[in-house]
Amino acid sequence: MARVGVLALQGDVREHAAMLEHLGAEVVRVRRPEEFAAVDGLVIPGGESSVIDKLTRMFGLAEPIRAAIRGGMPVFGTCAGLIMLADRLADAIEGQQTFGGLDVTVRRNAFGRQVDSFEGPVAVPALGDEPVHAAFIRGPVVEAVGPDARVLASLEDGTVVAVEQGNLLGMSFHPEISRETRFHERFLRRVGERR
Ligand code: GLN
Repeated sequence: MARVGVLALQGDVREHAAMLEHLGAEVVRVRRPEEFAAVDGLVIPGGESSVIDKLTRMFGLAEPIRAAIRGGMPVFGTCAGLIMLADRLADAIEGQQTFGGLDVTVRRNAFGRQVDSFEGPVAVPALGDEPVHAAFIRGPVVEAVGPDARVLASLEDGTVVAVEQGNLLGMSFHPEISRETRFHERFLRRVGERR
C-alpha cells in the first residue's frame, strides 16, 4: 500500500486525507521532517501559500521537500499547493518563497473579485472524456508555462488551470472537495510506480 503524506501545517488537510484513504492509501499527516522522511509522495493542500511557506521553513520542512522534489518524489498540489510548486510567482508577497519544481509562473488570487470563487466543468483530456467538476476558491492561475511543463487543463478563455511535469502535478482548483478522484488516482499511480 502506498504511504503518502499530506502537508498538514495549514489548509484543507482533512479533505485530501479522506480522499486518499478512500482510494486505499495509508496517509501520514506531515508536520515534522521525521514524518516527511517516512512517505513516498506528498500532497500540498489548498490554504494560504504565504502561511504554508512560513510554516514549512519554521518547521524545517522546506529544504527536505525541495530536495525530494529534485529527487523525483511525486508531489501533488491544489491551489495554494500549486503556488508552492511554481518556479516563479507573478505577485509574491514580500519574502514569499516556493518549493518550485514546476516550470511555470503562477499569479495568486488571479480571477478577480466577482469570479474569484466558482464551480464548473473543466475538460482534462489526460483524464478521459468526462470533464472534471472543478471548484475554484480564490485560486491562482498559471500565467506562463515553460518548455518543461505540460498543460493538463485550461478554461475556455485559454487560462491555464492544471499542469504536470514529471512526477509533479498542480492545479488551481480543488478536486479534494468535489468528489473528483481521478487526480488523486493519478498521483497514487505515480507513487506506486516509483516504489
Ligand atoms: N489565495 C490562496 C493563496 O494565495 C490560495 C487559495 C486556496 O488555496 N484556496 O495561497
